[in-house]
Amino acid sequence: MQTQSNNFRSQIFFSIASEEELTSAFRPRDQKKLMFPNNFKFPLNIQSYLTWRDPSGVYTYLVFKMPNWDLPKGVVFKKTPAAAGEATGGLCSWCHSYGSSEDIGFMSVTMDPNISMSYFLCQDLRCIEKIEETSMRAGKNPEKYFADLYYRMEKLFENISNYRREG
Ligand SMILES: [Zn+2]
Repeated sequence: MQTQSNNFRSQIFFSIASEEELTSAFRPRDQKKLMFPNNFKFPLNIQSYLTWRDPSGVYTYLVFKMPNWDLPKGVVFKKTPAAAGEATGGLCSWCHSYGSSEDIGFMSVTMDPNISMSYFLCQDLRCIEKIEETSMRAGKNPEKYFADLYYRMEKLFENISNYRREG
């Protein structure tokens, strides 16, 4: 089962040589919020995408690279606390898995100093693993769902680029 998973996920593969390279994948405003785990060993060889959270759980980081991009791109999500009485959970808009408000909630991305956009997502961004698990259980080929996920990630980074004012 592991081998199968790895085959599927090898369709997007990239590596990051150093902490400097990883940092430079993020926008300057996001770089201030970066905290790297101690267990990152460079070069990082990444399948699908790289994600981690800061120890407080406030920030979730995503680094992704479509095959046609020259360089990987990173983004910092900030957890948006659910309003009182709103803690119901729901469906992740990227992988469509269902979870409680502990697992799935709003995460915001700062587009420019005045604008943030919220995404309703798995808080740990384990979307690819959840798609894999769900597909395996249903006996379906996950490739299409992976492609949908990558497409949504690509759109997120396109949205960010459209707001980018700083070179
Ligand atoms: Zn998800």
